[in-house]
Amino acid sequence: MPCALQAQGISYRVRVGGSDRTFHVHAEFPNGAGRDTLLLALPAWSPGSYEIMDYARYVHTFSAAAPDGRALPWSKADKDTWRILTRGASRVSVDFETDPDSVALELSRIEPGFAWFNGTNLFLYPVGQGFDFPADVELDVPPGWRIATGLAPAEGSHYRASSYHDLVDAPVFLGRFAYDSVVVDGRPVRLAIHPDSALTPVVWDTVGRALRLIASAEDRIMGGPVDSGYTVLVYAPAGELDWAGGLEHHNSQFDVIAMDFFASDRRRGILGDFTLPLLAHEFFHLWNVKRIRPAAMWPYEYAHAQYTPLLWWSEGVTDYYADVALARSGLWTPEQFVDGLSADVQQVEDAAEIVSVEDASVDTWIHPTYVDEAQYYYPKGALLGLMLDIGIRRATADRHCLDDVMRALLSDYWRQGRGFTTGDLLDLIRPWYGGVDDFYRRFIRGREPLPYDSVLPLGGIAVERHEERVAQVGVAMGKEEAGGVEVTEVVPGSLADEAGLAPDDVLLKVGDVSASSPLWPIAFRSRYDGADGSVVPVTYRHAGRLVVRSATLHVRVARSIALRPDPAAAPEARAVFEGIAGARP
Ligand SMILES: [Zn+2]
Repeated sequence: MPCALQAQGISYRVRVGGSDRTFHVHAEFPNGAGRDTLLLALPAWSPGSYEIMDYARYVHTFSAAAPDGRALPWSKADKDTWRILTRGASRVSVDFETDPDSVALELSRIEPGFAWFNGTNLFLYPVGQGFDFPADVELDVPPGWRIATGLAPAEGSHYRASSYHDLVDAPVFLGRFAYDSVVVDGRPVRLAIHPDSALTPVVWDTVGRALRLIASAEDRIMGGPVDSGYTVLVYAPAGELDWAGGLEHHNSQFDVIAMDFFASDRRRGILGDFTLPLLAHEFFHLWNVKRIRPAAMWPYEYAHAQYTPLLWWSEGVTDYYADVALARSGLWTPEQFVDGLSADVQQVEDAAEIVSVEDASVDTWIHPTYVDEAQYYYPKGALLGLMLDIGIRRATADRHCLDDVMRALLSDYWRQGRGFTTGDLLDLIRPWYGGVDDFYRRFIRGREPLPYDSVLPLGGIAVERHEERVAQVGVAMGKEEAGGVEVTEVVPGSLADEAGLAPDDVLLKVGDVSASSPLWPIAFRSRYDGADGSVVPVTYRHAGRLVVRSATLHVRVARSIALRPDPAAAPEARAVFEGIAGARP
């Protein structure tokens, strides 16, 4: 916004801790320019979470007043924006309540003795005045409540931010949680976790060590920290949670992960499989996306979607570097590193069609149905990062690598106060890897199958293709029943469907294999995997009645690709692997 007026400092107060689950928000806006009308808006989305959320939907009891307490008239200008008639007031204060009350990375919630919030949910901005205004936030909480946030502390319970961007990019924990820290490369890396029972001394031993190793490995990749302190906020509820994830911020990350999934204290503080990659991924965003950012999101705007074709780089290559950091730090063995890449391959190959990561990146805002997940560009982007890394290392006899590209993006774009485009990225890579334009045209912008077999062996990674024939019954199974198993779902067009099975029936026998043992699917497959098209009797109980019907067997051919480190690879290839993973294959 080149012509924007610089708004003067804006102050906010957030009060929590009453008997309700409501955030009470007060904000004061200078009206030095004497405008008749002040437009105030809440963001439609939170950077990093590419989805229109319209936080204004949770707001109620909105009011506006002049400094003398006079109420000022207001109306809604659009779904996210309030229009206030200032009546010449030099300052306008606003009060409202909001209660998103959801366990979600971009929302906010109050529980007994604990709360967290995302600034995008609470902090109004004056429309048309830019985002570079300083802000002061007072956090009004009950006595004894702790506060953890990436915001800079000021007097008492006040915090400050030098711009609206930084203000809303620092989630806040309030109340009761465990808090500890390690020092890495001269700055504190803190962990705040709720509930505090999630952080036993044994778990902290493991998590603290992991944070130290991840931060130091990623600092080394990027040439050092770009923050003066980093905060990991973890909400780890006991009990069930059917998802886990994290969201990156300016100098912090907010992760939601069920307590047992995060770490188990029972076996010497073992971290869950998901925990290390999650911490490493969100931490790497400190550089990649928070600072090295696609030009289309520079600066962030909050009223509408910002489309970029580059999320394969911002998310997928971040995933690649999370794995690389875990390997180089020794937290993962070379085998675990390659297993992670294998899982990426499987996710890409399991997609129903080949999608360009640039299209998937733009489409993420609409959660498209053409791939299972809008997040297709994570695994595919990670593999593209690996292939570009191998390409650069082979073309320069290991004198250069993808780390150099990352560091060049940091110095040539972020340090110059700007974002980068795909053209900029290709320009940086081209001098080291002349094949990058062809690679880009075919596999990044284009939809050709990824060239695992021709590229990965150059990096000391063997590609094994497997084909498996699997005889299909076509049912989902519930509990065991006398002599068989309860059917909960029937796949249309399957053997079970043709035999007339329905949910709640009890499947007793398929062909000559009885369904009475929990291991019967294994017996069934070893008997029928080679019998595509043969007709077999199916025996089941329907409404207490015994039914025997014949149906046709279908055998599905399952193809999979597995990667493994190849100790027998040529010396150049093994050197590339060692450069990437920090250890010989
Ligand atoms: Zn991410």
